[in-house]
Amino acid sequence: MVKPNISLLFVLLFMNVCFSQNELPSLEGKNVLVVYGGWEGHQPEIFAKKITSWLEEQQAVVRLEKGTAIYTNTSVMQKFDLVIQHITMSEMTTKESQGLIKAVASGVGLAGCHGGLGDSFRDDTEYQYMVGGQFVKHPGGQVTYNVEIGSKEDPITRDIKNFTLHSEQYYMHVDPALEVLATTKFSGAHDAWIEGAVVPVVWRKPFGKGRVYYNSIGHSKQDYEIPEVWSLITRGVAWAAHKE
Ligand SMILES: [Zn+2]
Repeated sequence: MVKPNISLLFVLLFMNVCFSQNELPSLEGKNVLVVYGGWEGHQPEIFAKKITSWLEEQQAVVRLEKGTAIYTNTSVMQKFDLVIQHITMSEMTTKESQGLIKAVASGVGLAGCHGGLGDSFRDDTEYQYMVGGQFVKHPGGQVTYNVEIGSKEDPITRDIKNFTLHSEQYYMHVDPALEVLATTKFSGAHDAWIEGAVVPVVWRKPFGKGRVYYNSIGHSKQDYEIPEVWSLITRGVAWAAHKE
């Protein structure tokens, strides 16, 4: 009789757990859809092209699309590992909305930042339920604010220290079921009644079988030049592209 090597099994199991929790998956060979459009003030095409170049450096296969028409193409949508969307405000049809929601629920990841994911389709509550939050205000416009990193162990936030930036501090209405990775506290300098309010900046969440990742920073291309910001965006993208 062959005795199973229990200790070896435990080592392998432990390594597997460590790998899945501590490392971000490679993007090599992943199919990624980058969709952009909406309000031009957020320079959606600049973001779309920047993230596309980065994805191609990681050996991902990228399809770049302007507008949401592709969301209705069910068979094409199923082939993607991840959708990155940068469309501020704007509108989409019910069929487009349902196409995106169905794809994510079936296991396609969804990632984005700032208004491109968190201030999109203001009248589409099904979409907002999937993303997990909705922009409502950036009191004071451009302000100097702090971002506090939650977990120092998570692969998305590891080695990223708390940082300060001058940009729009997003005040968001959020889903209590989020897994929050970074937050910001409002000083109340512009709206006294929100003094001390702590609002998520970076979060992730499941939606059906899909992974949703969001970062509220990214008003202008200067924001992406902040190393902490770009790390948070790209690491979140890698996390969200992994299908269970
Ligand atoms: Zn903005």
